Amino acid sequence: MTIRFAAATIHTTGEDVDDQSVSSQTDSDYAEEDNNFEDWVSDQAQNQSCRSLFEDKTFPSAAATRAHDKDVHNFDLRTISAKLELDLHQRIRLINFIRKHAPTSEDIGNLTGAETFFSSDEYLIPQIEDDPLLQLEMDDWSDDEDLSSTDQRPTPPTDLPSALRQMQLLERKLAQAHRDMAEYRSLVGQQFDAGRFAEIINEPSTSSAGPSPRDDDTHYFSSYCENDIHAVMIQDKVRTSTYASFILTNPILFRDAVVLDVGCGTGILSLFAAKSGAKHVYAVDASDIAEKAEQIVKENGLENVITVIRGKVEEISLPDDVEHVDIIISEWMGYALLYESMLDSVLQARDRFLKPERGVMAPSQCRIMFGLCEGSEILKERVGFWSDVYGFDLSIMANNVYEDAIVDVVGPESMASEPYLLKDLHLKDVTTRQLDFTSQFTLVSTTPKRTKIHAFVLYFDTFFTTTGEPVPPEVPVKVTKEGDVTLAEVWPVGGKAPPQRRASTGPGLKQKEDKRVTSFSTGPCSQPTHWKQTIFLLRDPIHAEDGTIVTGSFYCKKSATNSRELDVEIHYSVRQNAETTAVGETVVQIYKVR
Ligand code: SAH
Repeated sequence: MTIRFAAATIHTTGEDVDDQSVSSQTDSDYAEEDNNFEDWVSDQAQNQSCRSLFEDKTFPSAAATRAHDKDVHNFDLRTISAKLELDLHQRIRLINFIRKHAPTSEDIGNLTGAETFFSSDEYLIPQIEDDPLLQLEMDDWSDDEDLSSTDQRPTPPTDLPSALRQMQLLERKLAQAHRDMAEYRSLVGQQFDAGRFAEIINEPSTSSAGPSPRDDDTHYFSSYCENDIHAVMIQDKVRTSTYASFILTNPILFRDAVVLDVGCGTGILSLFAAKSGAKHVYAVDASDIAEKAEQIVKENGLENVITVIRGKVEEISLPDDVEHVDIIISEWMGYALLYESMLDSVLQARDRFLKPERGVMAPSQCRIMFGLCEGSEILKERVGFWSDVYGFDLSIMANNVYEDAIVDVVGPESMASEPYLLKDLHLKDVTTRQLDFTSQFTLVSTTPKRTKIHAFVLYFDTFFTTTGEPVPPEVPVKVTKEGDVTLAEVWPVGGKAPPQRRASTGPGLKQKEDKRVTSFSTGPCSQPTHWKQTIFLLRDPIHAEDGTIVTGSFYCKKSATNSRELDVEIHYSVRQNAETTAVGETVVQIYKVR
């Protein structure tokens, strides 16, 4: 689904959306869109604590911070935006500028709007992660509107742009109603027992036999009981040999350690850990594959070292004498990294079982990378193909192709920008809340000649360190090239000396490989893995040349209908080069990763 906001409609509030600015969207599309990005950002901004722009004080919400900064520091973003005629991007830059340089509110009063930072891409990058003030800015696009000032029953929209606006206003009202209801529930819940309260508000009681809660697990775990899926994972050499390499070449870490393998599958990682000298390995899996893992452990004579526990890691317990484990190993990564939501389970296991302070998560870090992708091959395969099938036009088959992210391999030549670090997840302290995230991005086209960019591409890089500490941003990921020897370098496979390997790094990353870090990439420049890459096709290509700048926001959250799937929303606009200040319309595309 694509929505377009002409640049002017974003720069001002309360003006009608341009007639040309909505494309390819029907009323029923709107009706289905009951969880759009406005809900996420407003929810996030409203529930997230937020630091003042001028002092080291934190408030429970962005709105409270804004009110404080206005009262105490006489700084009101709306007033200054109106005075300097700032558009959305300039307001974002101003917030980031203040966060970075800490000017006084008097300094800010002297701004003219002509300062260079107002057009610098550097200041589009948030200074603090998930800054709620930035989210509030995004949310504020139409906040001069107040539905209560109009008829409570809005007149039926006569055109799509006003339908969109009314939809947004209604969504806000609905969100407020949800909040009010939640408050009301908690108030009344203190007075009545849960069953009676459920009856009062006409909802199924959690204590009586109502409809059972949604089950996102049965299908998921049964998909892991077949051989094929485990064969695909184990035969993914980049993946398995990197895990093997980390575990087997760090016996100092593993010797005598108590290890938890979250989602052991066939038990392969537990076998590596046992071979590396672990004192004991607890191998947990909720799928039927756990039975095979148990047999495999026995066949390999390791039943004294590895205990297989069948069950969800959230629900199992370790033997009474095991208070903590030293290391958690897990291969939890899904398409686009977070598909499957298995990381939530791993983080719960970390919080329950990992030794505080000195426990090690393996892997210790994942970086989500994002870039421009030329994408004409994928477009041809997924869209062009349908237009001539044995002489017939089957084009309507491609109608929905833009609504789902595509998991496929694109070659290194299709990368049309340097990769951009969208999200850096440090496994030692990331929280499940942070897995629904919004990130700003800036991509600069590297295509030598004018080219149509048909997609964004997303992939992830994974890092292992012996301390569990994350690696600094300048440390590049290891990129495995087709033909590189991987498995053979795992000592002592085959009993032979490991062959010399070629050192190779990611594009634009010329630094020397850090030998203490083990890593692999799933990007277009690496030998393909079973994760491939995740491609977000654009309905309308971006016309880019060397230096064209694409800025925007990437929103990612668990789907409301299936927590293992992801909803992604990408907002972007294009500037032809760094010299021009003219920014094109903002385009919004919505995708599912499923
Ligand atoms: N470690 C194996 C398998 C990885 S696939 C290997 O590297 O080859 C992920 C496995 O995690 C699946 O077998 C799945 O059943 C299991 N899994 C996912 N979520 C889980 C949870 N919450 N509790 C227990 N097992 C889980």
